[in-house]
Amino acid sequence: MRRAVVFPAGNIPGVWGLAPSPPLQPRAPWAKLGRMNNLAHLHRQIANSRDALIALTQDLIRIPTLNPPGENYHAICDYLDQRLSNSGFDTELVRAVGAPGDCEKYPRWNIVARRDGARPGECVHFNSHTDVVDVGLGWTRDPFGGELCDGKIYGRGACDMKGGLAASIIAAECFIAAFPYYQGAIEISGTADEESGGYGGVAYLAKQGYFNPDRVQHVIIPEPLNKDRVCLGHRGGWWAEIETFGEIAHGSMPFLGDCAVRHMGAVINAFETTLFPVMAKRRTDMPVVPEGARHSTMNINSIHGGQAENLADSTALPSHCVPDSCRIVIDRRFLVEEPLDQVRGEVRSILDTLTTTRPDFEYDLRELNHVLPSMTDREAPVARTVAGAIEQVLGKPAQFVASPGTYDQKHIDRIGKLKNCIAYGPGILELAHKPDEWIGVDDMMDSVTVMALSLVALLAPDQT
Ligand SMILES: [Zn+2]
Repeated sequence: MRRAVVFPAGNIPGVWGLAPSPPLQPRAPWAKLGRMNNLAHLHRQIANSRDALIALTQDLIRIPTLNPPGENYHAICDYLDQRLSNSGFDTELVRAVGAPGDCEKYPRWNIVARRDGARPGECVHFNSHTDVVDVGLGWTRDPFGGELCDGKIYGRGACDMKGGLAASIIAAECFIAAFPYYQGAIEISGTADEESGGYGGVAYLAKQGYFNPDRVQHVIIPEPLNKDRVCLGHRGGWWAEIETFGEIAHGSMPFLGDCAVRHMGAVINAFETTLFPVMAKRRTDMPVVPEGARHSTMNINSIHGGQAENLADSTALPSHCVPDSCRIVIDRRFLVEEPLDQVRGEVRSILDTLTTTRPDFEYDLRELNHVLPSMTDREAPVARTVAGAIEQVLGKPAQFVASPGTYDQKHIDRIGKLKNCIAYGPGILELAHKPDEWIGVDDMMDSVTVMALSLVALLAPDQT
């Protein structure tokens, strides 16, 4: 526990940048506040928070939390610690000691902040990752400048997902100001390493019990899935390395050796003729977007065979050898309808068939990682609540979607055993990881309202 700030009743500090909360009153004081009063107060708070939302998003973008290698995780946790402590949250900084990548130079820091309400009740947790991916080429703006131009804030991580993190903080602060007597608790976490699997972030926290259903009942992950969509989950992933073997010989007499690259060619050919057509015919009932990802897919991530290229001396000529090893990494994304054993078995059986049909074919298959699909029921309380708030704010039904790639929901589901979890946040999905990434301030404001109304529905239902 880094800090435990407990504010006695009647001494709730003013929400950062917003009007101070009214003092606690004895005996069901919320009964005195009418629905319109509370809700009108909430909408006023949100309307007045636009500048604070922009400033917070800019501040977060200006802390370059690049992953890899995992830079400035402590700095961003420190910033969030100060911000959320000022808003009355108890905060804890948690280092994922021993997680992949955790070291003295790049420690994997996370923050969990909690603000208990006036009465017992359920806990709503907003989880955002604080890491951002490599900047890459093609930028016309400062990737860590947080520049505001024509209603858009630019920077690496603007939409994925510092804008979502900022929106959830502002939503919580506005809700607390307007509904100070809410029940249950609000938690906000900023976690490391989502972009590299989340093992030093949500997975670590889930193992420590932070997503235990006894502690947390609803989780919203403000990933940039667009402000009008509720994302229920994601497809699964299976990553493996396949190696074929040959025998080295002089390149002028390849018949004296055995070419591992040709063996791999046979593997890829078998994928083309037998696996890809079967996968393309499978279509999931998961509402995955974009449409192409409703089918099973497999990417061949890399191929390496024969001599390593000598990058340090690009004018050097290769010596003449038959390659004795060839490796590929496959990235197989699978559907909730496909059992993992079937996914593995299909690839294994292609390789085993080749050992019987192709002379001297030998292979090795090494699994690198797997993630099972995760899918929250669209009738789950958090999904229904956020969808209702979207319809209220945007005047049209929410779209239920699933993500082609995985995100931290997998750890909350599998390790935390918490099923009532969705992704909902502002930002255009297709801008994630791109040059000149941006987030629209109006979109963030709409999402703030959706998140705040969701908090009203879940934590102050008797005050509406
Ligand atoms: Zn993300």
